[in-house]
Amino acid sequence: MATDANCIFCKIIAGKIPSKKLYETDKTFAFLDIGPIAPKHCLVIPKYHGAKLTDIPDEHLQELLPIAKKLAKASGAEQYNILQNNGRLAHQQVDHVHFHMIPKPSEESGLVIGWPTQ
Ligand code: C5P
Repeated sequence: MATDANCIFCKIIAGKIPSKKLYETDKTFAFLDIGPIAPKHCLVIPKYHGAKLTDIPDEHLQELLPIAKKLAKASGAEQYNILQNNGRLAHQQVDHVHFHMIPKPSEESGLVIGWPTQ
């Protein structure tokens, strides 16, 4: 498994930096974003380290969207964004591949129901 000792997300996966973990498998890790732009904003990342989507072998990418989908459902949000940025021009800040799951809260969406960390 490729890892980078200087990568902040590799440190989160290894438990060297604390995070609010939502989901984990042998290949994938998901946690609440430390700077959420909406309630329940979270990140789904491969454990395999790579900066861009094209750096990650396909077998380490396959779970990411299904897990983002599970977390979108668990958040209770009926509307949400799934985003993945590659490179500074594309607004990537952390050079370890990650999918954002960003709920779009509405009064009716019942966001707190079923959320695994609450
Ligand atoms: O796609 P981009 O690289 O811009 O997003 C990085 C995300 O990682 C930001 O939303 C930031 O809040 C999050 N982050 C985090 N925990 C850290 C460092 C960054 O959740 N320790």
